Amino acid sequence: MIDAHIHVVPPNLPGVGPLSPGLRASIENVGRVVREQMHAAGMTHAAAMGCLDGGPDDPLGVQRTLQICREVKGLFAIGIADPTRHDEEHLERTEAQIRTGRVVALKAYLGYTHYFASDRGYVPYYELAAKYKLPFFFHTGDTYSPYGKLKYAHPLTVDEVAVDFPKVNFVLCHVGNPWTLDAAEVIYKNMNVWADLSGLVVGSEEEIDAEANSQNRRDLIERIRAAFRYAERPNRFIYGSDWPLAPMPAYSELIHEMIPIQFHEMVFTENARTLFGERMRG
Ligand SMILES: [Zn+2]
Repeated sequence: MIDAHIHVVPPNLPGVGPLSPGLRASIENVGRVVREQMHAAGMTHAAAMGCLDGGPDDPLGVQRTLQICREVKGLFAIGIADPTRHDEEHLERTEAQIRTGRVVALKAYLGYTHYFASDRGYVPYYELAAKYKLPFFFHTGDTYSPYGKLKYAHPLTVDEVAVDFPKVNFVLCHVGNPWTLDAAEVIYKNMNVWADLSGLVVGSEEEIDAEANSQNRRDLIERIRAAFRYAERPNRFIYGSDWPLAPMPAYSELIHEMIPIQFHEMVFTENARTLFGERMRG
């Protein structure tokens, strides 16, 4: 199985914090915990986000993530696109980082950064994504920070770039929750739009279990099931846990419960394999 959305470094977003103090531990320790979690959840592969604003030598913010990838078999990096940096020098360094091979996708933090997906600052990154056949992830939906601005994070805003950049596969993280039906429409209408099922619930295993019968949880499950049905594209939903915001095994169980059993193989394995392609091997 493939977990397409985890964090092994603090994302460096305004108002978000480190996600978990554990991510500040040594490379070796983070690597060990990720290996344990992946093993416990039955994940053979995972993709981990870089951080925003990694500095001049690290345009995609993946340096530390790549160091951790060396400790964890099957772990790959997702580079972060900075819409304020689209000068030639930055883009050349970005391309060099992509060429190193272990970067399997790019991501934009819509909402956390106050730019629409259609902002011209992102255009060179879409062109790089097309050139190197990298999927492009968007944070969509609720921001995990009071400094986020929701209008930038609405999944409907991805429709425009999906049309303008038909060669790029775009992924709506969190199915745009709570705008899951809007996300489903964008997926239904555009053959190059996907969704990841990460971050729908956050908390410890006890918290996830304790809330299992709450009305909120039932509403969420119904919302995701309705979006999954409406989109009519079970081949374009992929699994992600958003670890360390939730433990990998408990979160995987929750999504297994949410998604009809006949689609488990696709959602947990095959779809991500298709999306990431050759780059995610080994
Ligand atoms: Zn995340």
